[in-house]
Amino acid sequence: MDFTTLLLQLKNKLISLEKEGLSYLNIEKMPEAEQRLLYKGLEEIISIESSISSNKKNLPLEINSKKTHLEIFQKEHNPPKKLSNKTDCEILNEKETTLGKQQTHAEEFNQEINKNVKKNNIDSINVLYKKFESCQRCELGGIRNNFVFGNGSIESEIMFIGEGPGADEDKLGEPFVGRAGKLLTKMINTIGIDRQDVYITNIVKCRPPQNRNPTNKEISCCLPILKKQIDIVNPKLIITLGNVPSKTLIPDLPGITKVHGQILQYENWKLLPTFHPSYLLRNRASMPLAWNDFKIITEVAFESLKF
Ligand code: SF4
Repeated sequence: MDFTTLLLQLKNKLISLEKEGLSYLNIEKMPEAEQRLLYKGLEEIISIESSISSNKKNLPLEINSKKTHLEIFQKEHNPPKKLSNKTDCEILNEKETTLGKQQTHAEEFNQEINKNVKKNNIDSINVLYKKFESCQRCELGGIRNNFVFGNGSIESEIMFIGEGPGADEDKLGEPFVGRAGKLLTKMINTIGIDRQDVYITNIVKCRPPQNRNPTNKEISCCLPILKKQIDIVNPKLIITLGNVPSKTLIPDLPGITKVHGQILQYENWKLLPTFHPSYLLRNRASMPLAWNDFKIITEVAFESLKF
């Protein structure tokens, strides 16, 4: 279409629009000189637009050429899978999924190790129990009703060690179940721990008659069992209850009234000596001292880096 025809069409369009009431310019009433200026202006505008269109028409080869080069570059430098965002997302998702799988594998691996460690510990503690449940290494073996091995969590950070079973413990086969045991349970609960989450045992596993202290011979006969229990549980903190267990593990200690509440070292483990619950039942005045000792337990057991 030539420009004259186009201008004529534009003119006719403007006239028809004006007749429809859509008046942009009142061309019919416009002086001819102004009409000519208008058409000239339109002609110039159209001419510029045509020139741009014409240039665009002349460009395709160049653009196509660039496109081709770009395509070649993309082909050379990008593998086909990176040609769309969707593919990138898919790749990213695949990577995340793979990473997720790797984490899952790591978690599974850790769980498996922990399971094995736990299983090994359970196996070890069961083997130890079986090995000594009929023990007669000292005379206490002949007069006991029950072998009082120990109970609680073998994964605990906290291990309580008393002196030996009393009448109730000998009867039931469990440590600290009498009055002293109830007090111990209360004290453990007071520091925010359930009794089943700690491990509790005694220096000797069979009841000395009349609740006397175990003799040195009885202690030395029984000590290998306790040492093996400590190895298996491997707690962050051992709490010895009273003089007998404290001095059994650290022989040169002064009396419990002097050393209670101090963090000591027993081989690879931290050790906190405190009063035996039976002593506390007889000496209520020492109760506040024992409470203070108990407050240290969680700090040492759960924030061991401080020490
Ligand atoms: S007290 Fe210990 S060493 Fe003695 S018989 Fe009992 S388990 Fe064996």
